[in-house]
Amino acid sequence: MKKKKIDIYRGFEQGPIRPPSEASSLLIRLTRNCPWNRCTFCRVYNKRQFSLRSVENIIKDIDVLKNYIERIQQMVRPGGYADHDTINTLYNSFEEKDRVAFNAAMNWYASGMKSIFLQDANSLIMKPDDLVFVLEYIKKCFPDVDRITSYARSHTIARIKQDDLQRMADAGLNRIHVGMESGSDIVLKKINKGVNKSTHIKAGLKVKQAGMELSEYVMPGLGGIDYSIEHAMETALALNSINPDFIRIRTLAVTNGTILAEETKKGAFQKPNDAMMAKELRLFIETLDGIDSYIKSDHILNLFETIDGKLPEDKEKMINIIDRFFELEPEKRVLYQIGRRMGFFRGPDDMDDSPYLEKVKQACDLYRVTPDNVDMVIDDLMKRFV
Ligand code: SF4
Repeated sequence: MKKKKIDIYRGFEQGPIRPPSEASSLLIRLTRNCPWNRCTFCRVYNKRQFSLRSVENIIKDIDVLKNYIERIQQMVRPGGYADHDTINTLYNSFEEKDRVAFNAAMNWYASGMKSIFLQDANSLIMKPDDLVFVLEYIKKCFPDVDRITSYARSHTIARIKQDDLQRMADAGLNRIHVGMESGSDIVLKKINKGVNKSTHIKAGLKVKQAGMELSEYVMPGLGGIDYSIEHAMETALALNSINPDFIRIRTLAVTNGTILAEETKKGAFQKPNDAMMAKELRLFIETLDGIDSYIKSDHILNLFETIDGKLPEDKEKMINIIDRFFELEPEKRVLYQIGRRMGFFRGPDDMDDSPYLEKVKQACDLYRVTPDNVDMVIDDLMKRFV
């Protein structure tokens, strides 16, 4: 019989990532790393092994945070000002592990203490009773929190009983982030997502039925050049069947050390360039139909951050942003592509009166970026963001 591993408490823990929309959330780590860890494009958890944290240790972390929040609240003077000397003295008296917790508590306090994100990649893999217990404990410690959210794999959600999902929702879990990536069975198989389109749909509908908000992440470019159209259309059709609250765009970057990078080297995968990806995105948005989701493009890897709106009323506006890109002269398009990845522009219209245009021109001259080599330069720049 396999021996059960004991989860020894080594102090407060934080995982490596959270969704961009959870920037002001308190991060509470329920599990470590990703139980799947096989998607060909992903190296977030690289070779790190998945493990469940014990409920006891999660509760210890929550208690540590609660204690710091209370101490911070005691230090804050009327009017919302904190005594910096007291805070610094307190901070410097901590061991490094405690400083991580103290920083987390400070940042959360400064952000208004309204949302919590449960780490790491798939918290719903915990036993439902354990997860509900932790959620109830969080609510008891921080009763004013409006939002508790988590990443979850569709594969896991699809296997959870609807009653258990409902219990999680009732205990306070009110938003789930799912990495759909694609709705195409061909693409999902190629990237080894471990889930197919119908499971994505089943999981999405279950989350909605439980009354939780649903955020689905999609990844333009993941079908490569060969499956770009299939990827755009099938992903949109899957989303049309789910009608999630949010559709979040996170463009593919091929990261060194991934299986996808190896496939790219061998020529088995060809990443679409910016123009192809923009066409793919246009087709994707065009195919979204009969739903009222918000589309968000809140990631620096995306070519258009200004794509941000609600369906169906903002559909044309979002498509026009892409069309505007294609109307640019080739040299100006290069300036946009580079300036966007330097963080100076959010959409093509930002260039018109931008004080940064000159800086972007200088950078392009310095590194001799032209319409012929811009895609290579962009690929290099994008690797720095993942
Ligand atoms: S499920 Fe998510 S975290 Fe896990 S390997 Fe795939 S993309 Fe990475």
